[in-house]
Amino acid sequence: MPVIVRHLTPNNALQPGYATAQVLAQETVLHFAAVRGTNVGIGPASCCAALAVQPTHQFPALPGQGFGVAFGNSQVAAGGLDQGPVGNHAERCALTAAGNNHLALTNPAVMFVELAPCNGCLNWLEGNGGGVANPYDFGPHGDTLNVWYAFDYPDVNQALQAFHLLPIDQQQAAVALW
Ligand SMILES: [Zn+2]
Repeated sequence: MPVIVRHLTPNNALQPGYATAQVLAQETVLHFAAVRGTNVGIGPASCCAALAVQPTHQFPALPGQGFGVAFGNSQVAAGGLDQGPVGNHAERCALTAAGNNHLALTNPAVMFVELAPCNGCLNWLEGNGGGVANPYDFGPHGDTLNVWYAFDYPDVNQALQAFHLLPIDQQQAAVALW
């Protein structure tokens, strides 16, 4: 199972990458809160993702952590607003950004995405999707990617939007309980 999807919850705390995903979730709150609602196309319903990467000069290690972060957003791909195949799917954007910067992933590879991957993204993550190909190999014989999510997809109850409308400190407090 090269792509393993799990809900970010204390019930899964013993699964690979949980602690990393917790940090990624907090970093996602901080990173996107800085730009949400500032007319760059990232609104309250916009899904965000973060991927743990081996640190480089451009992607330095987080304080106290052995990894850096490549971010992705459902409205933004590497290089700016993107309506193409990689756009509208935060997890694809994060992996594409990491690939464009030739970043190595952590072992185990860990991604946090706010909404669970849609079927199209699951397919893409495993190397079967169209458009801009996944730069990493999580196919049947490839590496394992641990994908952690916070909210179900589709977001029928607009839980993600409600979360993003909370003040940042309340978002952080919520994530600490995931
Ligand atoms: Zn998707």
